[in-house]
Formats: sequence, C-alpha cells, structure tokens
Amino acid sequence: MYNRAMGIERVIDTSLHEDDAEENVVEFSLRPTNFEEYIGQKRLKTNLKLAIDAAKKRGDVLDHILLYGPPGLGKTTMAGVIAHEMGANFRATSAPSIEKAGDLASILTNLTDGNILFIDEIHRLRRAVEEILYSAMEDYKLDIVIGKGPAGRSVKLDLPHFTLIGATTQTGNLAAPLRDRFGHSYRLEYYGEDDIQKIIERSANLLEAKIEPDAAKLLAQRSRLTPRIANRLLKRVRDYADVNGDGIIDVPTAKSALEMLEIDELGLDPADRNMLSLMLDKYGDKPVGLNTIAALTGDEASTIEDYYEPFLMRLGMIQRTPKGRIATDVARKHLKK
Ligand code: ADP
Repeated sequence: MYNRAMGIERVIDTSLHEDDAEENVVEFSLRPTNFEEYIGQKRLKTNLKLAIDAAKKRGDVLDHILLYGPPGLGKTTMAGVIAHEMGANFRATSAPSIEKAGDLASILTNLTDGNILFIDEIHRLRRAVEEILYSAMEDYKLDIVIGKGPAGRSVKLDLPHFTLIGATTQTGNLAAPLRDRFGHSYRLEYYGEDDIQKIIERSANLLEAKIEPDAAKLLAQRSRLTPRIANRLLKRVRDYADVNGDGIIDVPTAKSALEMLEIDELGLDPADRNMLSLMLDKYGDKPVGLNTIAALTGDEASTIEDYYEPFLMRLGMIQRTPKGRIATDVARKHLKK
C-alpha cells in the first residue's frame, strides 16, 4: 500500500499486494493448508471442526460461512483450510471482480456439488449481484433475467449444492438479508504475541531463514498481532540480514532492520504516527470525521477504516464517537506530544 502524503510504501500493510506476483507466490507457500498448521484462533477452529465433522457424518454440504475481522488475520487462509478438511474443491474470487449478475451466474453454474466458493470483500458486492446470491444460498436456485426490456425473460435454474464462504472486514456494511443467509458467522481475533512468534518461526522455517527465538519474539511484538504483517516483516528483516550480516536474524540485526523501516516498539510505522500527529495537532481532543482524516493523510477513507484504525483502536490510541474519531492521551503519550 502506497501512502501518498508520506511518499512511502508501507511495510505495515495488511493488504495483499496483488500486483506483486512474487510476493503472492511466497504468501501462498506460507499459507497453512490444514487445521494443524493453522496457528491460533482456537475458538474458531473448535467451532469449525465440529461443523465439518457433523456435515461429513451426515454426508451433507457445509452450511454457508461468514468470516469477518481486520485484514491479514487469516480469513482467506481459513477458507482454504475448510475446503481441504472437507476434501472439497475450492474456488476463490472477490466481490469487486464480479461486475455483473451474469458474472456471478456463470461462476455459480460452473460449480459442482460440494464445491466451496470463497468470496472475499463480500460487503462490496453490487446490489444486483447480491440479489442473485439470495436464492442461490437459500435453495440452490438461480433466478436470473435474460435480455432487457420486454424481450427479457426470467429463468430459474437448479444449482449444485455448494458452500459459500464470505469474508469481510466490515460486517456493518453487509446487507441484513445477505448476513442472515449465513449459517455460521465467526469473527477472527487478533493473535496473541506467542502465536505470532510461532507463525514467524514456522514461516522462517519454510523460507529457510535462520532466526533466533529472541529475534522472532521481537518481530512478534511489532507485528500488530497480525500474521500477514508478521510474514512481511520477517521477509524484510531477512533481506536486511542477508545484505548487512551473515544472514542470521538475531536481536541486534532485527533491531537495526526495524529502525531502518521506522517501525516502533508498538508496531506503528511513519504513516500511523503521521496520522495521529495530524489529528492531535489540528483537532486536539475534538472528534474529527473520517473523510477529513483521509484528506489530511492523502489516503482513501476505506484504507483508514480497514488498515490503520482497527489496531490503533485496539491500542486505545483512537476512539470512535458518533461525531468522529478522537486521538487519545495514549496516542499523545506515545508520540511524546
Ligand atoms: P485475510 O484473508 O484475513 O486478509 P489471509 O488469510 O490472506 O488474511 O492471511 C494472510 C497471511 O498470513 C497468509 O498468507 C498466511 O501465510 C498467514 N496466516 C494467516 N493466518 C495464519 C495462521 N493462523 N497461521 C499461520 N499463518 C497464517
């Protein structure tokens, strides 16, 4: 993610760099494929295991599942794990890439019984597309109008019995009729630092990077309790260790790499600090609207909402009020203002 105002490519970035093919390949090779490899999220795993075992026992398809929570916590990964555990075929897409009702119709008619269809960012489905999903989810029927105006006719088709897994960062923006059609709805939680350390050590192993346990712990403390950031930091620090040292990531190497990346002890980067600083300098302890913050930082409002805010709120640095966001004393203290 590029931050215009700061002129930097953020490392502390939970978005998947889709234009970065190499990154994608690496991300994929780091993705756990089964429950044993999927670290943390105990409650989610217990619930899903039960649902999967029950469906398997009945020889039934799994009910539709909604996974929600901040980006980078493992929603897509979990969807893949579910497919693997069900022994089901996995088809992944994202809402913004489904432009017309016909696009979704063609995805749905190409499924077969038991398939798992994953739709990322499901809150961004267009209304006309979303409406097709209602009957598809509810009774595996496709209800679509072919042709326009008086020549248009309504067609009803039977669909295979599939499972939809939807992922969203914003359940609040999901239309109620859609939300209600998911049999299961689970929130992914931020990880514990210990679990993030395990994820870093697992990834280091897969990447054949040598990292000392204390260095893994240090990176875990600065990864915003988010696996995607943990993996990204690990890769950046490994590059640093390869260039500036003997390739082994120990505490001093990790510390200087983090210093170079300007990631502080809480995992905030220059763009976070810049946003908090602007809020404090210009608005003090008064609330400020999301769009105003976006205009100040040069980001999209949705970027602030999805990527900056959730973790800053968790740290207690930002408060959401009906009148807008407030940067708190915790932020003031952290920035020494
Ligand atoms: P989301 O869909 O919530 O944005 P992803 O599923 O794409 O997040 O996860 C981001 C990355 O973090 C993945 O590439 C994967 O390597 C790693 N990851 C996520 N969850 C876990 C986990 N529980 N254990 C190990 N690695 C994980």
